[in-house]
Amino acid sequence: MSGMSALEHAAAPLHSALPSPVLPALAGMPKVLLHDHLDGSLRVSTLLQLCQRRGVELPTLHAADLAQWFRANANAGSLERYLEGFALTVAAMGDLQALEQVAFEAAEDARAEGCVLAEFRMAPLLLQAHGVAPDDAVAAMLAGLARSALPCGLIVCGMRHESPERVQEAAELALRHRMGPNRSVGVIGFDLAGPERGWPASGHARALRLLREAGLPITLHAGEADEGARVLEAVELGAQRIGHGVRLADLLDTPAGPEALQRIRASGVHLEVCPTSNVQTGAAASIATHPIRALWKAGVSLSFHTDNHLISCTNLNLEGQALLDQAGFALADLFAMQEQALDASFMPTHATEPARRALHEWARTHDLR
Ligand SMILES: [Zn+2]
Repeated sequence: MSGMSALEHAAAPLHSALPSPVLPALAGMPKVLLHDHLDGSLRVSTLLQLCQRRGVELPTLHAADLAQWFRANANAGSLERYLEGFALTVAAMGDLQALEQVAFEAAEDARAEGCVLAEFRMAPLLLQAHGVAPDDAVAAMLAGLARSALPCGLIVCGMRHESPERVQEAAELALRHRMGPNRSVGVIGFDLAGPERGWPASGHARALRLLREAGLPITLHAGEADEGARVLEAVELGAQRIGHGVRLADLLDTPAGPEALQRIRASGVHLEVCPTSNVQTGAAASIATHPIRALWKAGVSLSFHTDNHLISCTNLNLEGQALLDQAGFALADLFAMQEQALDASFMPTHATEPARRALHEWARTHDLR
């Protein structure tokens, strides 16, 4: 992938002077990507190209310097700096051609990382500021995803700090696009993204109820910047999956821990954990001490994800390698996470079955069955 080389160079894992190369067995492992924001995962080369075409000003016009700018922002220890890049990427994506291209390339990049199934997400209402109608934005992203050979679908995000009416608008938008162009996979789920603290998901209970009643699966960012109880709240509101959820680990060692764990396990909820992003935004101190270890040991269903390829300077193989090198996981653990991720996928069965066969085949050839 032409745009990936600059990113790969920029993607040294945190707190490791000499990152080890990605194990061939990990690179070749069939993987399931559930949590990746399209507006956080553009190729550097595409961002440059789109900004120049659309007249969007960039901090630098040199690809390597731009990759370095993102890396410095990601590792600044500031959520504000981390989020700065999104203003650029959303402006770059402000027309239908750009949206189609970004979605297509995200799917192709995931495929190059060994993914056999992927779910991408985006808040289409953000594009209204750039003159793109939300229905057209969703159709363009679905067309881009459908152009890739990778089975993938789109999760529509509502922004939790916006009004309940705006989030309801996003929910209704998601429901209008459950079928993609030419009967391809359409919108497969709904998410609440944006700043978590001070913006509980319960503020959008009406929109979430609408989605539940219509049968569209829900994943909610929760327990990332705010406390673990938010994860339980999200489950009560109907979330089948949780974006991050790492603060749940804080609850485990408290008197409320056993009951919380029992509720989480009984609900079957799956955590989409994004280790590098969590360290960058301060949700975890390091990969070595990341709560993913305690949650995995406690038997919580979870898997690891990228969150944002560009903004976090990562990819799915680097995330897995960091867990092998720094968090005490074995390859068999990472494989078990792919199986759990597949079980939790919102994709239709005709797309999950080939992925399941790929996982079985890999396990058979790697002596894991
Ligand atoms: Zn996210």
